Amino acid sequence: MNNLFDLKGKVALVTGSAQGIGNVLVKGLAEHGATVVINDRTEERAKSAALQLRELGYEAYGYGFDVTCKDAIVDSVAQISKEVGPIDILINNAGIQRRFPILEFPESDWDDVIEVNQKAVFLMIQEVGKYMVKNGRGKIINIGSMQSELGRDTITPYAASKGAVKMLTRGACVELARYNVQVNCICPGYIKTELTEKLVNDHEFSAWLCNRTPANRWGEPSELVGAAVYLASDASNFVNGHAIFVDGGMLAAV
Ligand code: NAP
Repeated sequence: MNNLFDLKGKVALVTGSAQGIGNVLVKGLAEHGATVVINDRTEERAKSAALQLRELGYEAYGYGFDVTCKDAIVDSVAQISKEVGPIDILINNAGIQRRFPILEFPESDWDDVIEVNQKAVFLMIQEVGKYMVKNGRGKIINIGSMQSELGRDTITPYAASKGAVKMLTRGACVELARYNVQVNCICPGYIKTELTEKLVNDHEFSAWLCNRTPANRWGEPSELVGAAVYLASDASNFVNGHAIFVDGGMLAAV
């Protein structure tokens, strides 16, 4: 029987995937048959993470480039397409967080958050999208957040950037669907990673979070793999412009 979720023969690029959620996602895609391309700001970390996957028997490659740098993106996407193959699946995962009250938020930190979380998603869609349109197929998955919908103290620029990711997803869907490119978004709830390590270790915050989340706990990065494989595979060929919240029910609860 044809396996709708099979990713054999597909090339998947995941940005910021030498650690955290991105690293778990590349492994999940590789387990479902994809050839995976790991990206990190440094070539060394990208290649070393790829080596770890190859040692497990998966086909994996590492490319170091900064997702905020257009020239580096153009060169790297061309290089990946030539050396590994045309990119069928792009996951825009790289992201950063900065925390200050809005009235004291340094302008330079605002710029950093918007550059990585928002502008880089646009740049990546633009460059990889050109190849996908030419090839007549593609899956783009942007990583949003609970803050694509909800505000929270001290992280307003992050929320602004993740709200924009939701609308970048819809806009790109409208423009690229006619070329058989699907653009969707995964919005994780609170997931245990290096980005959230301080919050995980903050007992007061953790207690508040568990109370606020119907599932009553933090999420694990591995719990995002199902949504990623679904949106990367033929199972979702007529699903376009959506945001899937993987959040233990948080968005559903008052
Ligand atoms: P993480 O552990 O900090 O990983 C983020 C990765 O992005 C790091 O490997 C980082 O590399 C990379 N990165 C940052 N800037 C980059 C750039 N300019 N170019 C290339 N790579 C860059 O964070 P995470 O928790 O896995 O988060 C991954 C994504 O999920 C982010 O978009 C985040 O906003 C989103 N998210 C996370 C949660 C959560 O609870 N953890 C919830 C909702 C959404 P360096 O280490 O070299 O900076």
